[in-house]
Amino acid sequence: MKILITGGAGFIGANFIDHQLNAHPDDWLVCLDALTYAARPGTLDGAFARPNFRFVRGDIRDAAAVFALFEQERPDAVVNFAAESHVDRSIDDPTPFLETNVLGAQVLMDACRAFGAARFHQVSTDEVYGDLPLGRPDLKFAEDAPPRPSSPYAASKASADLLTLAYHRTYGLDVVITRSSNNYGPFQCPEKLIPRMITGALAGEPLPVYGRGEQVRDWLHVADHCRAIDRVLRAGRPGEVYNVGGGCERENIQVVRDILRALGQSERSITFVADRPGHDLRYAVDSEKLRRMGWQPQIPFEQGLNDTVRWYLEHRDWWEEPGRPQIRA
Ligand code: NAD
Repeated sequence: MKILITGGAGFIGANFIDHQLNAHPDDWLVCLDALTYAARPGTLDGAFARPNFRFVRGDIRDAAAVFALFEQERPDAVVNFAAESHVDRSIDDPTPFLETNVLGAQVLMDACRAFGAARFHQVSTDEVYGDLPLGRPDLKFAEDAPPRPSSPYAASKASADLLTLAYHRTYGLDVVITRSSNNYGPFQCPEKLIPRMITGALAGEPLPVYGRGEQVRDWLHVADHCRAIDRVLRAGRPGEVYNVGGGCERENIQVVRDILRALGQSERSITFVADRPGHDLRYAVDSEKLRRMGWQPQIPFEQGLNDTVRWYLEHRDWWEEPGRPQIRA
């Protein structure tokens, strides 16, 4: 199988490429990535050494370039990771989020139709469902819950999901959608909560935490997410949505404390800052549908977090650079 992986120089896409190259060494992988600020040099070094991997720099919004690539490569499947992915940036300026996350997905699906790609896999997020109240652990979103996004980022992802399902219904395109909870692991851009706190603590900076840090997120190691995408890509039913939850809910403040403990640092650096507008309280999804297909998370949070802290300690050259984004986590 030849798979076009868009956004493969980013956090989850790069981990997915690594997973695919090891799990399916006979597949051909083509990575299309615009190399925005979120993609860092060195991330795909391991993949470049493999003969069945090709990298193309390009923008999914650029229909001419995307169609030319499809004509040349004729991929069997597309896994779309390419996105603007940071909520704070979407609050500052929603435009690139709508352009890449919605219109870029449309370009890819039009190319799939034009060149007969067998499957389009849209990588989505649990944030499309909106949030749940605190103190109600019995509540979780199933796949048929209506989209109720809070941020421009989440609204752009929900819009892309709706467009993807419409392409299935209207044009018969074979699509699947996975909606994952919060990921962590190696190669995550240091603007996101866990790497932001690790790298900030290593740099001796104050660690800004929104509100009182009581928001609850469901953490999933990126390797478990990659296994889920692989499973759905190969065995998911056309037109279906699959939730991918970690089953590991933690308050943000607890995660920050766990990181400081793993680094042997005191909690004095924690600084509470004004909350993000529209900040979601709690995310939780019901992943029973995917679990019935034989998937379940394998990496316990404590182990995954310790491994991630160690990875950032050992890969300073990857994240330590002038101009590191100073965005609140
Ligand atoms: P990321 O920001 O680390 O990577 C995004 C990648 O897309 C980058 O390499 C960037 O260069 C590329 N890109 C951006 N705009 C592009 C364009 N117009 N054309 C081509 N490439 C472009 O994001 P991530 O955390 O790896 O997330 C990947 C996907 O998974 C996103 O769609 C995101 O919505 C989704 N997701 C992420 C999480 C999470 O916790 N990180 C959870 C659930 C779902």
